[in-house]
Amino acid sequence: MFCESTIFAVHKILGMIKITLPDGSVKEFENGSTPMDIAKSISEGLARNVISASFNGTTIETSTELFVDGSLVLFTWNDKEGKKAFWHSTSHVMAQVLEEKFNGIKLTLGPAIENGFYYDVDFGENKISDADFKSIEDRVLEISRDKHEFTMRPVSKAEALEVYKNNEYKTELISNLEDGTITFCDHADFFDLCRGGHIPNTGIIKAMKVMSVAGAYWRGDEKNKQLTRVYGISFPKQKDLTEYLELLEEAKRRDHRKLGKELDLFAFSTKVGQGLPLWLPKGAALRDRLEQFLKKAQKKAGYEQVVTPHIGQKELYVTSGHYAKYGADSFQPITTPADGEEFLLKPMNCPHHCEIYNTKPWSYKDLPKRYAEFGTVYRYEQSGELHGLTRVRGFTQDDAHIFCTPDQLDNEFKKVIDLVLYVFSSLGFENFTAQISLRDKENRDKYIGSDENWEKAENAIINAARDKGLNTVVEYGEAAFYGPKLDFMVRDALGRQWQLGTIQVDYNLPERFELTYKGADDKLHRPVMIHRAPFGSMERFIAILLEHTAGNFPLWLMPEQAIILSLSEKYEKYAEKVLNLLENHEIRALIDNRNETIGKKIRDAEVQKMPFMLIVGEDEEKNGTVSVRRHGQEGKGNITVAIEDFVAIVNEEVAKTLKTFEV
Ligand SMILES: [Zn+2]
Ligand SMILES: [Zn+2]
Repeated sequence: MFCESTIFAVHKILGMIKITLPDGSVKEFENGSTPMDIAKSISEGLARNVISASFNGTTIETSTELFVDGSLVLFTWNDKEGKKAFWHSTSHVMAQVLEEKFNGIKLTLGPAIENGFYYDVDFGENKISDADFKSIEDRVLEISRDKHEFTMRPVSKAEALEVYKNNEYKTELISNLEDGTITFCDHADFFDLCRGGHIPNTGIIKAMKVMSVAGAYWRGDEKNKQLTRVYGISFPKQKDLTEYLELLEEAKRRDHRKLGKELDLFAFSTKVGQGLPLWLPKGAALRDRLEQFLKKAQKKAGYEQVVTPHIGQKELYVTSGHYAKYGADSFQPITTPADGEEFLLKPMNCPHHCEIYNTKPWSYKDLPKRYAEFGTVYRYEQSGELHGLTRVRGFTQDDAHIFCTPDQLDNEFKKVIDLVLYVFSSLGFENFTAQISLRDKENRDKYIGSDENWEKAENAIINAARDKGLNTVVEYGEAAFYGPKLDFMVRDALGRQWQLGTIQVDYNLPERFELTYKGADDKLHRPVMIHRAPFGSMERFIAILLEHTAGNFPLWLMPEQAIILSLSEKYEKYAEKVLNLLENHEIRALIDNRNETIGKKIRDAEVQKMPFMLIVGEDEEKNGTVSVRRHGQEGKGNITVAIEDFVAIVNEEVAKTLKTFEV
C-alpha cells in the first residue's frame, strides 16, 4: 500500500527520459531504461543483435541504466564499434585464461585493435609459445559457452590500489585515474580494471584464435620493461574466422613487398638507407607509364606541369608554418659552407608552388591556375614504422595545387572529382566512398578563414560530391584547421579499406604567402588553394595496386604485355618477326628463347604474371599465326590466331579499362 507521497516519489524516480536515435527520432522511455530495453522496444530482432552502445558519444554497456536525456546509438557486430566491444570483451576472457595457465603473470592492458585485440602481459618467469595457442583458444571458447555476463563495478581508488598492489602496471594506471571514476569489469570469477565497452555476455564468442605473440614495451616506451603482447581475434561464427584466415593467407600471397621482389619492380638497400625505395627498370617503367597516363589527363583538364627543387630554405617552411608544426624532430637542416644558410629536404610541394604563383600578378580572369608536379618529398618516419612502399621516407606525390577564386571552387571541385574517378576506373578500383571532412560545429573559432568562405568551401564539396553521385560519409570536426577536405576511401579486392586520392581546400597558405589576384572590383583578393593528389603518392599507390590486382595490373599498365615462347631454336627467326610486328603496334613484348622446355617457359611466364604467352612453332610459322595462352588459365581457351588478330585482342582489352579522359 502506498500513501500518496510515496507514489509521488516512485513516480519521480521512474520519470521519463527522452532518447534521440540515430534517425533523429525522439522516444520516451522510463528512467533507468538500458540500451537493451530500448533495443527490445524497437524490435526483438535488433535486441538479439545489439552487442554494444554509445550514449552521448561515450561507449557504454548494453546493460547501463540511463537516467538523463541523450542520443543513443546501438551497435551490432556489423558496426565497427560493435566489433570493438566484441574483441575487447574477448581480451578479458583471454586474460582470464592466461592467468589460469601461467602462474604469477601480471596483466596490463588489453584493447581492441583494427583486426582483433591484444593483451600486453608481463609473463615473469613464464614463457608463452605457439604451442600454447590451441589450448588457450579451447579454454576461451569453453568459458564463453557458459554465457557469463560482463558487469561493471565501481571501486574506490584505495580499493583498486590494494587489489593490484603486486601489479606495478595496473598501479600506475590507477594512480592516474581520479577516485570515483574507477571501475572493474566482472565476468565469471574474473575481474579486470576497465573503463567499459563490452558485449552483453561471453555466449556470443563462438570462434577465437590466438594470432601471434610479440615483444612490446610498457606504454610503448623503449625505456620501459618489455612485455609480451598476445594478439588474438574472435568472431560470432566459426565461418567468419575461417574466412578471415583465408583472407590473411591471400593477403600474404599478395603482399606488395613479396610481389615487388618476384616481379622485379623495386628493392631496398641498407646502404642507401631504410625507407628509400630503389625502382628497378620494370618498376620504373610502370611508374613512368602511370605518370604519363595522369599527365595526359591533367593536360586535358588544364593543368600546367612545373618542376621545383628537392630542397628549400628553412625560411620557406617557417613562412608556410610547417616548420613550427613538424620542425625540429622531423627534418634536420642541411647547412652550407656559407654562414647562416639552412635548407631542409622538401617535405611537401605546396610552399614551392605558392612561390611559383607569386612570380606574377594575376587577375581574376587568369584564374584558376593549376600547377602540377610529380614532386618527390622526404619525411622522417621512425624505422619501426617503415613498411615496404606504404610507409617510406622518400616518395613522389602526384601533386597539384589549384589557385582559384572562391566562386570557382564549386566547379574546380567537380573537375578534380572527375579526374579522380577517371583514375580509379582506369585502374580497376570500383568500390569506394568519399569521406567529407567538415568543421566541428561547436568550435568554429579553431579554424582559419572567414565563416563565409568556409561555408562556400563546405558547400562546394558537398554539392560536387552529390552532383557526381558519390557515396559519401560526412565527418564533422575532421577538417584541417585550414580547410575542409574530401578523401576517397577505396576498398581493395580483399575488402580492405585504403585512403587514396585527397582533395583539400586551403585558406591558410594563400594568407601566409600573401597570394593575391586582382578582382573585377580592381581590388586585391586572396585566392583559395586546392591541394589534390589522385594517387596520393606513387609508392603507396603502386603498393596498393599490387595488392589489389595481385600483380595482374590492367593490361595497359603491365610492364610487359606478352611473351613469345619459341618451341625450339628453329623458330627463333619467326619469334623475332612476331616481336617486330607487335612492337610496330606498340605492344610491349619480349622473347624467351632460352634452351628450356616449353613447359618450363610457361611456368616462368606465369610467375612473372605475363598476361599473354604466345607460343610459336612449326604450324605457327607456316601459317603466320601465334598460339595464345592467357595468364592463369592453365591452357583453357587457348586460341591460335593471326598476329594482326592478336593485336586486335590486346587493343580491345586495353580500351575496356583505359578510356580517353573527357573534360
Ligand atoms: Zn573491458
Ligand atoms: Zn599541397
